[in-house]
Amino acid sequence: MVSVTELGYLGLSVSDLGAWKEFGTEILAMEIADGGTEGFCQLRADYWHRRIDLIGDGDDNIAYFGLRVAGREEFALMQEQLNAAGIEFRVGTVEEAEERKVTEILRLTDPDGYNVEIFHGPCVERHKPFHPGRRMHHRYLLGNAGLGHIVIGQKDVEAAYQFYKALGMRGDVEYPNREGGTKDGPTFMTCNERDHTIAFGMGNEHRIYHLGLQFESFDDFGFTYDIAMERGVGFFFHPGRHSNDNMVSFYIHTPSDWLIEMGWGGNVGSNPQSEYYPDDIFGHHHQNEDGSLKKLH
Ligand code: FE
Repeated sequence: MVSVTELGYLGLSVSDLGAWKEFGTEILAMEIADGGTEGFCQLRADYWHRRIDLIGDGDDNIAYFGLRVAGREEFALMQEQLNAAGIEFRVGTVEEAEERKVTEILRLTDPDGYNVEIFHGPCVERHKPFHPGRRMHHRYLLGNAGLGHIVIGQKDVEAAYQFYKALGMRGDVEYPNREGGTKDGPTFMTCNERDHTIAFGMGNEHRIYHLGLQFESFDDFGFTYDIAMERGVGFFFHPGRHSNDNMVSFYIHTPSDWLIEMGWGGNVGSNPQSEYYPDDIFGHHHQNEDGSLKKLH
């Protein structure tokens, strides 16, 4: 079975493009890539042409996301696999691939209607060093494990599980709800060295709940925490450490109100067999609207 290998890029619909440009560069330390047109902006996070498209159409949701396959052979095999699973897709045109700066692209929708793109051959501009939007000690940890992970709402969790399984992912519930038994809780799906690349089951609203990013250096984690505190960015979770991916992280509100998880120290490099956890290792106190903190577990 062929598998997608990583979350390559994201398209985000936003209502306040100006606020997102500021957030993307000054909080996330990303670079505004060349080629942005009015109502559209591209954010770069490493040598890739770009990682995030910001589309100023006002939706404040995820518009599309790109899952990579290794190369042309896997791209062909993935089409056979999708056909066998009865999943409809369309092979993108040369122009559509060029627009995303990839070699070839498939377009499909998952059971909840999210626009999924499967691609190979991204444009990697090794000649153009990443220029962070503000000071950084080191870089984002990307490598072969992709941009990070997304958590999205799915009405039918089992249908979503079957869909992403057909793309070669595996996973299960990792944090069972207190009273629902071990099968009731968010499902985390993996396709590489990260514990999860996509997760769902934390809500059934059709929206993105968070995007998880990871720094190479603990100093960048701390530096970004200080910047977010000083700039008055809204926190959802203060620092804590997850049991599933071992990531130390905090969660802040984006200008679209959904969250970004800024992390360090996750288990990139291990691909554990399924386990479940009653609680996080420590922390992740939720910040209430009045500013008070409360442990959710
Ligand atoms: Fe996360």
